[in-house]
Amino acid sequence: MSLLPSCPEICKNLTEYQEHSLPIRKRFGIWIHLMMCHGCNALRKALLALPSLSKRVMEAPAEAPTEAKDAFALAMTKIKGCQKPDHQAPPK
Ligand SMILES: [Zn+2]
Repeated sequence: MSLLPSCPEICKNLTEYQEHSLPIRKRFGIWIHLMMCHGCNALRKALLALPSLSKRVMEAPAEAPTEAKDAFALAMTKIKGCQKPDHQAPPK
């Protein structure tokens, strides 16, 4: 194994790198690679932007008819309801 990881290895481990859950030696290799590789650094920046982008997508637009805002709010309520575990153990 070389000291510096390859681009596919960076892609595979980038989430764990961002979460600081990798061993220090592996983190250091990824950090060096990111300093030198424009493509992997662009991917890292894209991953960093995902939370704020998804938050903006999930907000109702400021300028919309009241009916559309109400429908959007209802849809979001249903979506959030779907995120709850709906599989309960059957009664014994
Ligand atoms: Zn790379």
